[in-house]
Formats: sequence, C-alpha cells, structure tokens
Amino acid sequence: MPTLNEIRSTFLNYYSKLGHEVVASSPLVPRNDPTLMFVNSGMVQFKNLFTGVETRDYTRATTAQKCVRAGGKHNDLDNVGYTARHHTFFEMLGNFSFGDYFKKEAIPYAWDLLTKEFDIPKERLLVTVYHTDDEAADIWKKVAGLSDDRIIRIPTNDNFWQMGPTGPCGPCTEIFFDHGDHIPGGPPGSPDEDGDRFIEIWNVVFMQNEQFEDGSMTALDMQSIDTGMGLERIGALLQGSHDNYDTDLFKTLIEASASATSVDPYGDQNVHHRVIADHLRSTSFLIADGVMPANDGRGYVLRRIMRRAMRHAHLLGAKDPVMHQLVPTLVQQMGAAYPELGQAQALIEETLKQEETRFKQTLDRGLKLLDDELEGLEESAPLPGAAAFKLYDTYGFPLDLTQDALREKGRTVDTNGFDSAMAEQKAKARAAWTGSGEAADSTIWFDIAEAHGTTDFLGYDTEDAEGQI
Ligand code: ATP
Ligand code: MG
Ligand code: MG
Ligand code: MG
Repeated sequence: MPTLNEIRSTFLNYYSKLGHEVVASSPLVPRNDPTLMFVNSGMVQFKNLFTGVETRDYTRATTAQKCVRAGGKHNDLDNVGYTARHHTFFEMLGNFSFGDYFKKEAIPYAWDLLTKEFDIPKERLLVTVYHTDDEAADIWKKVAGLSDDRIIRIPTNDNFWQMGPTGPCGPCTEIFFDHGDHIPGGPPGSPDEDGDRFIEIWNVVFMQNEQFEDGSMTALDMQSIDTGMGLERIGALLQGSHDNYDTDLFKTLIEASASATSVDPYGDQNVHHRVIADHLRSTSFLIADGVMPANDGRGYVLRRIMRRAMRHAHLLGAKDPVMHQLVPTLVQQMGAAYPELGQAQALIEETLKQEETRFKQTLDRGLKLLDDELEGLEESAPLPGAAAFKLYDTYGFPLDLTQDALREKGRTVDTNGFDSAMAEQKAKARAAWTGSGEAADSTIWFDIAEAHGTTDFLGYDTEDAEGQI
C-alpha cells in the first residue's frame, strides 16, 4: 500500500513526465492578496498566470499545495469530526496549464493516472460536469467509455469553481469514487450527496472566466486548466478506506494523541483524536508560515482552531497541555516534504504550549458555566446570546468553540443574541472612550471589531465575509 508521501511523489512525477514544471507549495498566507485569508487551493499562487497579468518560462506546472479551509468561501472547520473527508489543513495535488492544453488533454491525463498508474477499477468511478458542458461530457464518454448515468450533469455552483468572491474561475468536472453501499450517502446531485459513500477525489477546472467585485464576469483571453485532488482522499482510497483518518499519516497522529492522553485511539473517543490530529496539522503549518495567535484576522482563526483542539484534549481528560507533545510526530511524518515544519518546530511547540497553558485556566470554568446554563434551559432552547457572549468575553471561548460543544449535544446558540451582546459592548466601549490617554481594555476589542466587523471577525458566518480581510 503506498503511503501518502509516496502518492505525492507519484503524482508529481507523473505530471513532470508530461512536461510540467514541479513547483513548490506556496506558503499558506497568500502574498499580496487581500481577497483571501489563507491559500485554499493549488491555483492561488498562479492566479496572475491565468489572467495573463504574469508569465513565466513554463506553461505547465504541477504542485502539492498546502491548503487551509477554515474561513471564507471554502470553510470546512465545522466538518472536521463529522465527515470522513474534510480537514482544516490538507494537501492539494494539482496540474496546471496556462493557456497550454485544455479539456481534451486534461481529462485523459487525469483518467490515465487514476486507472493505469493507480490501478483504480473504472467501475467504481463516476464524474460530474457542468450542466451545459456537452464538450466535457463527450470527452468523458470517448476517453473513459463511461455510460451516460455515470456522467452526471450538475446545474449548481458545485460545478462552477471559484477561489473566492473575485478572481479566475470556470466550469469544472469532478471525479468521484464509490466506496460501496455499506457507507451512507448518495451520488453527486442527489439529496443525500453529503454522505461519505461517493467521495469527490478530484476537481478539474476549465479556467476560462474572471469574476469581478461588481458582480460582472468576463471571458479570459486564454483557456487554462487548474486541477485539485486531495492527497488524503486519494490516499485513503488507495489504502482501502473511504476515511481520510484511516491513512498511514492520520493513524500515526491519532496514535500519538492516544498515547499522550492515554485514551484508546479507536474507541468511543475517537472523534476527539481525529479533531486533535486535524487541528495539529493546521495550527502547526500556520505557525510555520508565520501566523501567530491573535485577537483578530488570521491570528484569530489560528487561535480558534487551537482552542477547539484544546477543548477536545480536555474532553479526553488531559491534565497537562497535549498539543505540543504531538509536534515531533508530525515533523517526523511531514518534515521531509515540508522542511519549514522542522525549522519552526521549537516555535510551534512553544506557541502551542503557551496557548494551551493559558486557555486551560479558563476552559474548565467556562465549560462549567456552559453546563449550568444548559441545565436551566428547556431541551430544545438555544443557548442565549448573552451566555455565549460571556463565554467569549470572560472565558476566551470563540463562538464556534461554543457551537462545537453544543452540537455534540444537539443544541445551538442564539447567534442574533450573541451579536446584540457584542454590539452592546461595542456601544459601551465607544461611550467610555474619551479620545485621549490610555485606551481602555475594551478598546482593544473595539479596534478589532471596527477593522473586521463583529460577524466577520468572529467568523461563524460560513459565507464569503470572513475570507475578505
Ligand atoms: P467537497 O465537496 O467534498 O467539500 P470541494 O468541492 O469543496 O470538496 P474543491 O474545492 O473542488 O473541493 O477542491 C479540490 C479537491 O480538494 C477536492 O476534490 C478534494 O479532493 C480536496 N478537498 C477539498 N476540500 C477538502 C478538505 N476540507 N479536506 C481534504 N480534502 C479536501
Ligand atoms: Mg467543500
Ligand atoms: Mg464538492
Ligand atoms: Mg469540488
């Protein structure tokens, strides 16, 4: 069974042989791109090549790109721990053509890699195309010999890819693997498509448009290709599972979490180990790329992920900080492919340890407060906004951490009430602000809220707002 490290190499070698330049992953913080919080796909570092603003001495490239999806247009933070296929941090394997080849070549390249190089049985694969894209459907029929019912036409934005609210975009065709009817879920386009039976492994985007802020969309001069395949998803498949957390890498991380907490890795508590393993990767890679925990912007997203993981460690009964103990295992697994991880190891460990030590001081009391609040409520009533705000303001609970805790119990938060409590505090801070001398404590928060808007700043909005900083 190939390891994730081997699969990454196979992919890059395959496209290298097809004349693609092997380009290193860009850092997770996009350079000079205020529209995006974190790099969320392989195409981000090539954005200007698709629009023709920039040219390089190659027109074909291949990468394994570090991605974080914990905010903005693509936000999978809430999926972690609930689906078998989503991470906050993952690697996207991609091949790119900048005005070089297009659909006719991109589709057979992908098909041959999957069915010849990786030997995946053709009968288990199916594809989607954008509903109007007859050309792509015809190519699939010809190249792969797929029957019409395995070429599913999708009329929604699922088959029209966009990095964020603006930028290059276009219709896409996606490749799915059927993991079998022992797993719940329906084919793409069906009402229960969100299950984990039919897993999307690869998205092949036909870059031909550009979206602008005013809502207009134009055709690009060049026709280009941008593809993305999740390494962890293809890895799970090639290792015989539908579940990313069953891959060699995740098993090792989950076992490290189990040994640090002395809790069975695959028993009832497995979900906590999964969240910890996932969040360990995103937090470590973000710190390695220069993000530090903070009360606003990117640093706040990092803090939110860290604290979420820390609550899960707490649920496993950990008395001492856990996260930093797992860093050596991560570096040992991924340090060869990403040397920045090893270089930043001491900083990552120190940052995680400090944050966990600090957060532990209020975590217990906050969780107790949460329990007490729930006790006084009717079964179906949401947690009042004022209580969620107190958890945020006094105990350092990001709103999504509170929501995560409640979701386990099938409950929710009154987010409007939370917003009002936040607005009230803001008004008070404004009234107290004399415009001279030392800023009152609350003005720190005030600055953050002014800069980001309370909703964006807290980031429980799953749509675009948070991606724009
Ligand atoms: P899904 O529908 O499963 O959420 P997506 O359509 O949002 O995936 P794309 O934006 O098309 O994903 O990204 C390209 C590929 O990257 C996907 O086909 C998948 O293999 C992988 N991928 C996307 N999101 C994640 C994630 N959160 N964790 C792991 N892999 C992912
Ligand atoms: Mg998604
Ligand atoms: Mg999808
Ligand atoms: Mg997709």
